[in-house]
Amino acid sequence: MRLTKIPQNKFELNYNNVIKWSNFKHRIYNDCKRKFLYKYVGSLVDPYDKEKAEKLKKLKTLKNWQGEIVHRYIDISINLDSIELSLEKFKNEFYSTLANPSEKITEYYYGIQITNSQIEEIYNTSVISLKNFWFYYQNNIRKLREKIIFRDSYDIQTFRIREIDILYKPDLVVKDEDELTIFDWKTQELEADLNQFKLYSLAYLTQFESQKIKVKSKIVTLYPTLKEDEIIFSKQDIDEYIDFIYDSYLDIKTFMDQMRIFTQNEFENLFIEIKKRFEKTQNRNICSRCEFRELCFGKEK
Ligand code: SF4
Repeated sequence: MRLTKIPQNKFELNYNNVIKWSNFKHRIYNDCKRKFLYKYVGSLVDPYDKEKAEKLKKLKTLKNWQGEIVHRYIDISINLDSIELSLEKFKNEFYSTLANPSEKITEYYYGIQITNSQIEEIYNTSVISLKNFWFYYQNNIRKLREKIIFRDSYDIQTFRIREIDILYKPDLVVKDEDELTIFDWKTQELEADLNQFKLYSLAYLTQFESQKIKVKSKIVTLYPTLKEDEIIFSKQDIDEYIDFIYDSYLDIKTFMDQMRIFTQNEFENLFIEIKKRFEKTQNRNICSRCEFRELCFGKEK
């Protein structure tokens, strides 16, 4: 079968979204081009793989799902102004999702055994995280409630630097006079990704450029024990980070520009040629955590 070229109007639309930059997108692009294709460039994927990729995209590892649901219930606690009501709702959602988890949770979709005691442990650690959040919130943020300018339930934000549209979404932001604090909740003790906080700082420094505000980040670890770390970046840190974004953006944009030209060619099967250009990683550790591995290796591997 001879396939035609990719319709350019469809690709243009998608292309503009693909080159919007984020720390996460930078990581995926550098981890595995094939994953980048499935996740962000659906218009270059053949219809069968595309349908499958859309389904697999919705999967989350248990750890990521837990992090996401705890973040959501942090926001619900603030809305309800009650940790008790929030915990009650959390319990219902937690167990109802896990009653039918194979469409949502990677481990279940791929048939990885999860024991009841593992589930209980995840539930208990989530409850501890939520209670620790509430303790921290009551003591540090509640009195500044009126000064919260961003929360996890808000939409993804965009700002522009040089010609680059950049996406970001912090957990909670408080602006008190000329001081702005970005809060980040961690549901496990992990080394912080400093670029994440440089991005938030840059976004708010850009947004409030005329006000000469002071920006700081607070990383609040909610489990196993409540802990707060504060980070303030220097102007040099932020300037170097802008250069890092620019280099990464150019890398992705150049690759996509080449693909735009490539898709004008006609091949026996254009989609197969596109896949060859979006190469699979050789790092099996990355694959072992990837939601798209059915498309690369089949469901059983
Ligand atoms: S399974 Fe591996 S090769 Fe395939 S998309 Fe995921 S990370 Fe890339």
